[in-house]
Amino acid sequence: MVEERKFNSIIRMDTLLGKTKDELTQLAVGLGLPRFAGKQLAEWIYTKRATAFSQMTNLSATARSLLAGNYAIGRKEPIAEAISADGTKKYLFEVQNEDKKWYIESVYIPDNDRATLCVSTQAGCKMGCRFCMTGTLGFQTQLTATDILNQIFSIPDADKLTNIVFMGEGEPGDNTDNVTAAVNALTSNWGCAWSPRRITISSVGFLPGLKRLIEDTECHIAISLHNPFHQEREALMPVEKIYPLSDVIELLHQYDWQHQRRLSFEYICFEGQNDSLRHANALRRLLSGLSCRVNLIKYHTAPADNIAAEKQVRLKSSSTSQMEWMRDYLSNNGIITTIRRSRGEDILAACGMLVNTYEGKTS
Ligand code: SF4
Repeated sequence: MVEERKFNSIIRMDTLLGKTKDELTQLAVGLGLPRFAGKQLAEWIYTKRATAFSQMTNLSATARSLLAGNYAIGRKEPIAEAISADGTKKYLFEVQNEDKKWYIESVYIPDNDRATLCVSTQAGCKMGCRFCMTGTLGFQTQLTATDILNQIFSIPDADKLTNIVFMGEGEPGDNTDNVTAAVNALTSNWGCAWSPRRITISSVGFLPGLKRLIEDTECHIAISLHNPFHQEREALMPVEKIYPLSDVIELLHQYDWQHQRRLSFEYICFEGQNDSLRHANALRRLLSGLSCRVNLIKYHTAPADNIAAEKQVRLKSSSTSQMEWMRDYLSNNGIITTIRRSRGEDILAACGMLVNTYEGKTS
């Protein structure tokens, strides 16, 4: 008995954010509440975005107190923010796994009438891409569906969001249960009723997880490609050793990317490494027959004083003119190609730069 109490004391209270309407109904019934309380809970959590049970005024006082005694909603505000000169904002969240605290980051990117949030799916990352600052952290913990949704719900700009990209810390294909649960809550009618076309999930090609993300969601998919040659890609991205790009492309050919759903390839341009005619031609051959587009991305190196600088492989970004040449060459050869504008580099919020470093708080 004493043992049991001790055990219970370190368990986190179960959270409601991320649960389906059916799960909410089950837990309401488990507390002796009527079944319709599940629907009410879903409305309070996903539509009205309640942050406390006391706000749920159409539930009885007894129901609210029972819920508060047994569950937490799961909403937590960010603990720090940094604002870039270009208007990009980076938020730091604290997450808890069992009895340990971790930090994660999300990036809010306003752009005229669009406002995109780049969310994390893991704290740190297992994939170890050698050019990525997040990769230097190693893997820290999986994020729960609550942790993922909380980034979207709890930033001050939550009401302005038009798009979500799962491109922050972590490989979404390595945390599929929680990513699909979060997407389900965002896109279901009982949840936020967002169109899945407002959501893009990125993957390095972690094959089993990628297959599930394609089949269990209707979101756009982005593949981090970065080099069309097996050995060269493997030197940069260890995932290539286990799940070669050729297998990823073969998998992608099995799905329809022509109707509504978009397939894109992310391609960071490294000077002298992957920006030559040889690479452009190989890329063209690799992607032929796939309805897709390519986004060329400037490489962001870790600042010399950042802890990631020691571990990150030393590469340089291609020049703007070389990226423009590559864009034009691919476009003229039938592959829609754009150069993605870099955002938030001055606050370490750009692609591959998330390492949870803020004054006094480092992962
Ligand atoms: Fe992980 Fe993505 Fe960085 Fe690769 S690029 S280490 S998958 S966060």
